[in-house]
Amino acid sequence: MGQKTKIDGTIETVKQGFANGVSIQLAEKQAIEGPEAKLSHEEKQGIIERASKAFGEFLTALGVDWENDPNSNDTPRRVAKAYVNDLWAGRYNGTPDITAFPSDGYDGMVFEGGIPLTSMCSHHHQAIMGRVHVAYIPGKDSKVIGLSKLNRLVEHFGRRGAIQEQLTVAIHNAVNTIIKDNKGVAVMIEATHNCVQCRGVKHGGASMKTSKLTGAFYKDNATRSEFYQFVKGY
Ligand SMILES: [Zn+2]
Repeated sequence: MGQKTKIDGTIETVKQGFANGVSIQLAEKQAIEGPEAKLSHEEKQGIIERASKAFGEFLTALGVDWENDPNSNDTPRRVAKAYVNDLWAGRYNGTPDITAFPSDGYDGMVFEGGIPLTSMCSHHHQAIMGRVHVAYIPGKDSKVIGLSKLNRLVEHFGRRGAIQEQLTVAIHNAVNTIIKDNKGVAVMIEATHNCVQCRGVKHGGASMKTSKLTGAFYKDNATRSEFYQFVKGY
């Protein structure tokens, strides 16, 4: 049976309130109640109320008669709910429960590829869509993470404002913190950015690749090529 692992050290590396950091409301609650604290339904509702009012004002400033338009009169609430419950859920939800199992002497690569990524660029608030490939090599007596927990980590950091470079580092550092004594961690993200496709230069089809490799993935050519060989399959 896997056990819920209490993470030794924080997996949050970005200042609270910043892109790819937790919200100030969650950070304040955790400072008082400890790292396990989560925002209650009522606290999230309060954030939705305030954000909804502010978004109505934003539309008014843009010259939208939203209150009298049947397609728009509930839009401020819809947008605020989408940010808090989905698009930026990772700012308001605490760290996911991580299940870990003994590695039982396994010291090869653990790879999960093609993890779907939905995020939002913190510069333009446009969608980032792509895939994440994560790998690590456990130490002789260290643990392995329950496989779906890698997906949970991608959701946790992806569902915030982000820039892809920072997101790559955030996922890497989280795996590196959870798997003590690992022999290396690799994260690669390939994604398209709506801010490039829909505004500014407006170039469809361009995608961005970022990677962070440490330990054996960085130092050892054979391990690195094995990782990219696995990535190629996606
Ligand atoms: Zn952007």
